[in-house]
Amino acid sequence: MASTVRLVFFGTGGSWPSPERNVMSIGLQVDSEVLLFDCGEGTQRQMMHTNMSFMKIKRIFITHYHGDHFLGIAGLIQTMALNERKEPLEIYGPPRTVDILTRYLSVGYYSTTFPIRLYELEGGESIDFGDYTISTLRVAHPVPTLAYAFKEKDIPRIDKKKADYYRLDSKTLEKLRKEGSIIHHGKEIRIEDVMGGIRKGRKIVYSGDTAPLKDMVKFSRDADILIHEATVDSSLEEKANQYGHSSARQAAEIAREASVRELILVHISPRYKNASVIEKEARSIFPRSRVVRDLEEIIVKVRKSQDSS
Ligand SMILES: [Zn+2]
Ligand SMILES: [Zn+2]
Repeated sequence: MASTVRLVFFGTGGSWPSPERNVMSIGLQVDSEVLLFDCGEGTQRQMMHTNMSFMKIKRIFITHYHGDHFLGIAGLIQTMALNERKEPLEIYGPPRTVDILTRYLSVGYYSTTFPIRLYELEGGESIDFGDYTISTLRVAHPVPTLAYAFKEKDIPRIDKKKADYYRLDSKTLEKLRKEGSIIHHGKEIRIEDVMGGIRKGRKIVYSGDTAPLKDMVKFSRDADILIHEATVDSSLEEKANQYGHSSARQAAEIAREASVRELILVHISPRYKNASVIEKEARSIFPRSRVVRDLEEIIVKVRKSQDSS
């Protein structure tokens, strides 16, 4: 289980950048690794205003190929190359990722100093990255669009009294946690012998652009954080739904049904100089809702332990 999981919002606006909000991009740091969800134009400069390094980005997950979600990739890659990055960069996205990004990344004369690996995902996939998985859901938008769920793996919680009984130090415990059983002073000890429940892994869901979707409830069930788009307030809901977007009211209903711990609203339309109407509307349905500002950071804490029964 990671010791640090934190989110930084580089852009929280929809459609085009405004003085109040840059277009979509969210950084998720898992210990020393950074995952980037969407990369609207200007993302790299937004990152430079924070302490999340663009050089640490290991994987980028693009929800869809509308400009406000991916046009920052070329500039970001150029800067990485000028800083002599050597590590491969993985970019994941919906169908046509390879075609669209291959063409998009062949403009101009710059060349890269590191391999770029492109992967196409369908809805309903789950990729295992070791300590966490990333799952996808096809959402309701006019072009192929994916929502992503980050889920850290559950790990056994150690009961200190039981561990002390077997005289296990922290290094031995870690080995036991990884391997399930060990031989200690000639005696077999199994993880069950020292377990005191489960530490539940953290779950974070990002909706991408979408009209309200029933499947999102199941997909984000019990998430620690649901980051859902709320392009408009409910007075503009009908038109927004036609274009594949949600209102704050609709996002809040999904959060409530899915019993998430917190709802974060993003992709706010540039028409709102002040997003308090969006936040207020969501809170009237799901009180643990808020609109985040650009460059805001959230540390995602581990939940309280649960019994192993
Ligand atoms: Zn958008
Ligand atoms: Zn879109």
